[in-house]
Amino acid sequence: MKYPALANTIAAGSSREMLPILSPLDGSTLSEAPLSTAADVDAAAKAAAEAQVEWGARTIRQRAQVFFRYRQLLEQHQHELAELIHEENGKMPGEGLAEIVRAIEVTEFACALPQMIAGEVLEVSSNVECRTQRSPLGVTASITPFNFPMMVPHWTIPIALCLGNAMLFKPSEKTPLSAMRTADLLQQAGLPDGLFSVVHGDRNSVEAICDHPLIRAVTFVGSTAAAKAVYIRSTGNLKRALCLGGAKNHLIVLPDAIEEQTAVNVIASMAGCAGQRCMAAASMIAVGKVDSIIDKVCEEAKKLVPGKNLGAVISLESKQRIERYIDEAEAAGARVLVDGRNTVVAGREGGYYVGPTVLDGVTREMKIAQDEVFGPVLAILRASDVEQAVAIENASPYGNAAAVYTQRGGVARTIANQASAGMIGVNIGVPVPLEPFGFGGWNDSRFGVGDITGRGSIEFWTQTKKITSRWSTELKQGWLGD
Ligand code: NAD
Repeated sequence: MKYPALANTIAAGSSREMLPILSPLDGSTLSEAPLSTAADVDAAAKAAAEAQVEWGARTIRQRAQVFFRYRQLLEQHQHELAELIHEENGKMPGEGLAEIVRAIEVTEFACALPQMIAGEVLEVSSNVECRTQRSPLGVTASITPFNFPMMVPHWTIPIALCLGNAMLFKPSEKTPLSAMRTADLLQQAGLPDGLFSVVHGDRNSVEAICDHPLIRAVTFVGSTAAAKAVYIRSTGNLKRALCLGGAKNHLIVLPDAIEEQTAVNVIASMAGCAGQRCMAAASMIAVGKVDSIIDKVCEEAKKLVPGKNLGAVISLESKQRIERYIDEAEAAGARVLVDGRNTVVAGREGGYYVGPTVLDGVTREMKIAQDEVFGPVLAILRASDVEQAVAIENASPYGNAAAVYTQRGGVARTIANQASAGMIGVNIGVPVPLEPFGFGGWNDSRFGVGDITGRGSIEFWTQTKKITSRWSTELKQGWLGD
């Protein structure tokens, strides 16, 4: 094992079953992490509740100071963190670095929260004023997937904590190493002990989180099936919940799109992080005659070399699942223009690599057109006009992102209005809204109300108190309606 065995930041005592952590780069064992039990969740929740009392009583300006220091630490350690992400997730180090940049951005948003949460005040009656203030919820939890071990947790951690909450963080059991570094750096920045704790584990620990009475709010990011289950279980236990699920993003390419720019952008969207992004291009809808763009898309795809500028997928099971989708699509009549199956990287024969893959002639009925494949695979579907293209996009049960490539503003606007997705790109394949715009999809890509970052997240992590005061020497008792 390259790294010592991991432990929860709050240990409940007895020994746990351990799960090996394998590097997707070569299949080697990096470390192992405990499969936490309900008793572990209970210990972490109790420590969090205790620490939150003092933390919640600080002013938000005092709490923000921790995040100014934390932001500096993230920057200082960005290369080391990017390397760790590369090892545990398999993405390229540059892609790991991009995660830290995004984590820093959200931390900066948290640093600005004192300015953003200023309340309202109004003299609602003579000498009577009503003012609002935001209070933390108490203990919260954040459950995250493997594909962004640093970026996705940072959608919640700095914002929830800076707003005065405590948090249990349940990282993916596939990528728990950077979670430990997050906890270390938060402690170095001055966060009180017990306020933020890492609880390792799988579905069982998530269910214990959903059931724990001290936990008031849960965010989840992961596959749609799990997001639904966590939403139902958490809200069934009367918690606030916001659960982001999977995706199937459609890029609509029109004949007037700028050829080279579109091709480069479509492939970057499809293959970045080996296609394991909830914002990745899964399907390209080619409207009318766009064959020269498709030729360029294939040219661009062929520039990607696994292990050199294309990372690994997370597991052998993922590699096999992705290749099965390609096999089935081919058997159903799709043409494989660029084939990434059976990829082996010399010197890393144990790694889980899938090469870039482009399929043309995919039809709406094929599984590859409907399911989330989560690999570097682009399925091209043909549409005769914009209406048909929008109908294909609208038929997907998901609704994370969609994009259109064109030089005509009016058409772009129509498609942006008609697409059934929460984040839309115009000539942009990965339309992530940066802060203060919130991140969040629609339909089966999100359960709950609001976005996970941005201004909307303030509403999720706080409750509003309305204080009505009268300071007057008059004897009069009633005041309503004066
Ligand atoms: P996953 O659903 O397998 O796991 C996510 C988390 O849930 C992990 O911490 C895991 O331990 C836990 N978990 C797994 N099954 C569970 C269950 N049945 N009940 C409760 N908890 C469970 O997802 P993953 O494979 O780690 O990540 C990939 C998925 O995440 C993709 O579907 C991707 O689209 C999605 N994702 C979505 C967004 C978004 O913003 N919508 C962002 C990133 C990833």
